[in-house]
Amino acid sequence: MKLIVDCDTGIDDALALIYLLTSMDSAKLGLSAIPGANTTSANESVDLIGVTASFGNTTAKQSARNSLDLLDLFGHSDVPVFLGHEHALGARSFEVSPGSAFIHGINGVGDVELPHSARKVEQMPADEFFIESARRYGKDLTILATGSFTSLAAAINRAPEAIAKVGRIVLMGCALTVPGSVNAWTEANVSQDPEAADTVLRSGLPLVIVGRDVTAVTRLTTDVPARWKASGSKVGSLLGEMTAFYQRAYAVNFPALHGCFLPDPLAMAVTLDESLVTNWLSRDLSIDLDGPTRGRTIANRDRLFEAPSTRVALDYHRDVFLNRFLTLLDAQVNR
Ligand code: CA
Repeated sequence: MKLIVDCDTGIDDALALIYLLTSMDSAKLGLSAIPGANTTSANESVDLIGVTASFGNTTAKQSARNSLDLLDLFGHSDVPVFLGHEHALGARSFEVSPGSAFIHGINGVGDVELPHSARKVEQMPADEFFIESARRYGKDLTILATGSFTSLAAAINRAPEAIAKVGRIVLMGCALTVPGSVNAWTEANVSQDPEAADTVLRSGLPLVIVGRDVTAVTRLTTDVPARWKASGSKVGSLLGEMTAFYQRAYAVNFPALHGCFLPDPLAMAVTLDESLVTNWLSRDLSIDLDGPTRGRTIANRDRLFEAPSTRVALDYHRDVFLNRFLTLLDAQVNR
């Protein structure tokens, strides 16, 4: 599988990237078996052909910087990074919201200073990279988007016939059966550019939705980053500080949780192994763009009688996912 990760790197995006890189390097790191892994899909080799930078948790430029730093730190300086759209299609600019800065820090990674990569982003913009890759790899290409969906929507608008060749697009976003994360009906990645989300959802492409329905039911407890920090390793200290920063925001926003959710790592885990999901709903979706419910995920009323091209994850093997996440991240902390 050829994989592009389109992320607004962000603390949980960072954890998702580390999950992926560790999973790709599991043999090298001596991880003979990833717990509970579906052997067929887990053994399928993943080729990360690029990371694209979206805006959301932070600016697209800062997201690109964080992804470059993380790729180098975890030994994947061969993976190119592409800058995506820097604001919503219908907007002229983007500013990081106070809420995002509170959760992810001013620099997007909990104000932890990552070792600085000397690399720069590629000349080609993210949407063009999606189009070129779809033409080149077709069904073998998966795109996972864990930030705003603006660059994806731009690629669909520019070259629908090329993007139609992709094997799968996985979105960390939407809230279908549960309240949103921004308000009672709007999920955060949708809220960054509802028109772009609606364009992607209505595209007829093979979509996998890993949204609020499943991301808000697995908790990483506060003892984990404390343990990483105490490990004495450089990576342990960076990951521990970053994750503890994220959890301090959750302590204010969700005081009863005593930890944090893992939205983007879950979307990554499902991208690598769909057998984690135990309950799918096949239903094409859309986003309310007008009126008081702007941002709401709802069934696409124009396609209620068509065969759906969208699968929405509604439940998954929660313990298997958490165990797998801890096994992979601990391997880097203890490296
Ligand atoms: Ca994200």
